[in-house]
Amino acid sequence: MAANKQLLVLPGDGIGPEVMAQVLRVVDWFDKRRAVRFDLKEGLVGGASLDKHGTPISDETMADALAADAVLFGSVGGPKWDANPFDKKPERGILRLRKEMDLFANLRPATVFDALVDASTLKSDVVKGTDLLVLREGTGGVYFGEPRGVETRADGSKKAVDTQVYTTPEIERIVRLGFELAKKRRNKVHSVEKANVMHTGVLWREVANRIHKAEFADVQLEHMYADNCAMQLVRNPRQFDVIVTDNLFGDILSDCAAMLTGSLGMLPSASLGARNKTTGKRHALYEPIHGSAPDIAGKGIANPLAQMLSFAMLLRYSFDLGDDADLIENAVKEVLASGMRTPDIMAPGSAKVGTTTMGDAVLRTLDKLGA
Ligand code: NAD
Repeated sequence: MAANKQLLVLPGDGIGPEVMAQVLRVVDWFDKRRAVRFDLKEGLVGGASLDKHGTPISDETMADALAADAVLFGSVGGPKWDANPFDKKPERGILRLRKEMDLFANLRPATVFDALVDASTLKSDVVKGTDLLVLREGTGGVYFGEPRGVETRADGSKKAVDTQVYTTPEIERIVRLGFELAKKRRNKVHSVEKANVMHTGVLWREVANRIHKAEFADVQLEHMYADNCAMQLVRNPRQFDVIVTDNLFGDILSDCAAMLTGSLGMLPSASLGARNKTTGKRHALYEPIHGSAPDIAGKGIANPLAQMLSFAMLLRYSFDLGDDADLIENAVKEVLASGMRTPDIMAPGSAKVGTTTMGDAVLRTLDKLGA
């Protein structure tokens, strides 16, 4: 029998625990009804950890994250801790997890559900059927490159420097992952950079071509400049399957892609680390892209679907359980098609429900689809 999957659950602050409570019902459903079995451990992160341990993530919880097969993360932050010094900010918890788990790859899917097509600010005939994944390199590039900083010049004026740096191995691993992901989707990769004006872009393109030719010739590869990609995302998003790009362009393009869907409460994400050469495992963390939403925390109205879809990504990418992930995604689609909506995605003629009722509906639909 396959070993139980070790999950670390970190609900965090604000609506994090509220939406996570619904996801834990889904985890339990899979544990009881499907082939996969989980061992769950829960921990504190963000403000919740600051209040109890005086640090946004304790060494013990950090060790649990490194030992787990996957981490399911909620969200952190809130006004209570806004005035804290930088090292006592709740967000330091997620930054430490990303750093110590070496989560170099950030996966941000943007899927436009048919039932929510009108939530987009773009025309429905442009966004309908959009199903793309932005794969962003997350530990290199201009946010980390040296030299960086601000200096005062002899004449009293200042000079600020950020440096865009990429090495061959850094590009290889993210581009390779892009091809691997495309093979599980629609087999198409857009590699995005600015090879027309940046040396890092030239190297990026060179490496993408080499990896493609040597290892993934069966995947369709297209190169695109980042500025054109921004334009194409709003012009014709359906042309994209996997977009692989660097840290800076990925930061911008993933937000742009997210807004094609128009609904923050629906968007999951994954962050993956390098594969361990001996065990074959990779560190992985799954979280919705929304924050802790202090304005609605405690009201029982948060949309739990982004957190549920994050769990679906966990099944797909950490455990290769594509059918189980499909089951959650199809249940979500069906619940939306039935007209049930939390307030954030409310539309005229739909039924407004709270967090728990939405959870009930997903579980009922899982019962039906998974029977
Ligand atoms: P936010 O994503 O928390 O909220 C933005 C708006 O979207 C709010 O009006 C909120 O009510 C709504 N919203 C978000 N998620 C929702 C959901 N699931 N259901 C219904 N409505 C939802 O962003 P913010 O207000 O800028 O930040 C609030 C706090 O969250 C801050 O402390 C910020 O630092 C933190 N934050 C944390 C993360 C993270 O944990 N990774 C990410 C972003 C922001």
